[in-house]
Amino acid sequence: MSRSMLAIVTGLLAVLLVAGVPSAQAAPCMSVTLTGTGGPPPFNDLAGPGTLVRYGDNANNCSAVVMQFDAGRGTLMRLAQLGLQASQLNAVFFTHMHSDHVEGFSDIAQMRWLFGAPATRKLDVVCSSEVKSFTGNFTVSCSKFVAHSDDAYQLAGETAQRISEAPRLNTDGPVALINVIEFKPNNDAQVVWTSGEVKVSAIRSNHIPGHASYRVDTPLGSVVIGGDASNDVMLPPRKTSTSDEVEKLAKGADIIVHSAVHPILAPEKGAGMPPVIYYRQSNATDLGAMAQRTGTKHLMLTHLGPSLGAATQGPWKIPGGPLTETDYIKSAQEGGFTGHIVVGTDLATVRLPQE
Ligand SMILES: [Zn+2]
Repeated sequence: MSRSMLAIVTGLLAVLLVAGVPSAQAAPCMSVTLTGTGGPPPFNDLAGPGTLVRYGDNANNCSAVVMQFDAGRGTLMRLAQLGLQASQLNAVFFTHMHSDHVEGFSDIAQMRWLFGAPATRKLDVVCSSEVKSFTGNFTVSCSKFVAHSDDAYQLAGETAQRISEAPRLNTDGPVALINVIEFKPNNDAQVVWTSGEVKVSAIRSNHIPGHASYRVDTPLGSVVIGGDASNDVMLPPRKTSTSDEVEKLAKGADIIVHSAVHPILAPEKGAGMPPVIYYRQSNATDLGAMAQRTGTKHLMLTHLGPSLGAATQGPWKIPGGPLTETDYIKSAQEGGFTGHIVVGTDLATVRLPQE
């Protein structure tokens, strides 16, 4: 390289370096919003489980990278309340294939296809690879769920009808705009998705076959999405109801978002919830203990069983009547947690850095 060219390159580098320094206007931020905190049975206006994680800066409302974890009933309505449309999502991550965690997905796929998304821009859907059931007589498959998510509309002629009305649409339908990224969850965290400075890792956890928990790391902080994880030892006696793998993933994380069942539904309290259902969730007290051990600042309890104010959880009556926010806080604090507890309500948000 000649000396004059070297001078030009050096000058350009200096310009780039100056341009790269963030101004006060573009302070980076990260936000975690519960898009739905309800249980499987509908209650009042609660949406089904889901968590939105965003990273960006003040200039783009913290939304340069937009990630949705699970997509329960009504997810798109909650996103709309935040000013977000389906086309703005960069990726959807599934913790597991239980219908209450995925039933809002078809809505997302349809609306992305019909409105807004460029016909060639695909949505990443990140989830576990196909796995055999515990009994071995059926298979749990996220990729099949996604591949067939438009089947009813295809068979009903609705997809063809839309294409006939709007030639701009991708003629292969909504599923053609989805890119499934599968991974085999194991007992150590693995990176499953990245975008710029944002890194998402996953780890195996117990609940149903193929359940995975996620961690998002950004330059500003980190959040762990536990999903419905519980301990590998399915029934007491066991040291905790929480997952050892989630705990490993959550070491030093700023925020934990986790489904929580209140100990009032424990078999010995008499609500009548089958033990197998109660014990495959983490209870609020054990989650408080885990969050304390991992040194986490914010514990966001979500997908609450039972919902705040509900007299029943599905067919089961809550002993002593509906629970309040204080009941959940007390339960998590009984586990020894001294940090900030968010008892999940739809659209509850923790933003970093804190104002
Ligand atoms: Zn579940």
